Amino acid sequence: MADIIDGRAVARELDEQTAKAVQAMVDAGMTRPGLAVVLVGNDPASEVYVGRKIKGCEKTGIRSFEHRLSKNTTQDALLTLIARLNADPEVHGILVQVPLPDHIDTGVVLGAIHPDKDVDGFHPVNVGRLSTGTGGIVPCTPLGVTKLLDTVIDDMTGLDVVVIGKSNIVGKPIAMLLLEREATVTVTHIETKNLSDLCRKADVIIAAAGAPELVKGYWVKPGAVIIDVGITRRKTEDGKVKLVGDVAFDEVQHARAVTPVPGGVGPMTIACLLANTVQAAREAQEGGKAHAFASSEWDLLPDRSMIFDKNDD
Ligand code: NAD
Repeated sequence: MADIIDGRAVARELDEQTAKAVQAMVDAGMTRPGLAVVLVGNDPASEVYVGRKIKGCEKTGIRSFEHRLSKNTTQDALLTLIARLNADPEVHGILVQVPLPDHIDTGVVLGAIHPDKDVDGFHPVNVGRLSTGTGGIVPCTPLGVTKLLDTVIDDMTGLDVVVIGKSNIVGKPIAMLLLEREATVTVTHIETKNLSDLCRKADVIIAAAGAPELVKGYWVKPGAVIIDVGITRRKTEDGKVKLVGDVAFDEVQHARAVTPVPGGVGPMTIACLLANTVQAAREAQEGGKAHAFASSEWDLLPDRSMIFDKNDD
């Protein structure tokens, strides 16, 4: 039987560390870390995610600033709010929940967040820092994946990793993080030929395709480690909704370790968001790496709209 990597337990531990770090900052006379969460409209799934993020803040002692805007909010009004949050010294992290309504350009909005407050790590400046190994804020789900890998693998040097999925928010940043750890990373996608053959040779498989039970038992070599990022909502016969991952979980029990869905990567994403907020707050107040990119330089950037669409591949 494969070991189950318990994402809930790892996330709980990370939350405890985050809460301690917050308390240590307050005890040292620093401003309590603050996260602004912006929700435009009332998409039910987004409401749930925002609620969880606010709850996470309460649990760890981070101040949260909730901004709920009507679905008819104009892009200009949203950009004005972001400019205000960028300038607010009580706000160290800004999270704009996506998807945004169709009349708003997601790329422009996410690109307007100051890179030092971009706790989602999606801003091109942070993407650039990640791909050049020069610090910055790392996207939450990929960061969570590396923390789960840390529980089962001491050293990634030279390991063959196959990442399934090349999105800007999951697949590509995971690949960058693991290249930094000297792994040999193959990034695959919907057009990749012989995906099962590539996976069969891998020491680590990271499935982030959103294709339910794509990774079959025969794709996995004995002793491999599998991280399942995928989440698909599937209706069961009794009308309930079940979350299904990208890995045929029951078929991969010859793996060394595997994450379940739910209870694997999912809980790590919010825990990493909270940890990122504390990192941003500390660096803003101590003048760390993220702060090296001064606000004045940011204001001079010629093209803020170069940000990619968060939902684009
Ligand atoms: P995306 O749709 O932006 O990208 C999917 C990628 O997978 C693409 O590169 C596509 O080419 C590839 N792909 C799709 N089907 C494939 C197939 N059959 N074979 C090989 N490659 C295939 O999705 P995303 O935003 O990167 O998310 C991927 C999955 O991860 C989704 O299920 C999403 O719900 C989940 N997710 C989970 C968390 C979490 O917190 N657990 C966070 C983000 C995303």
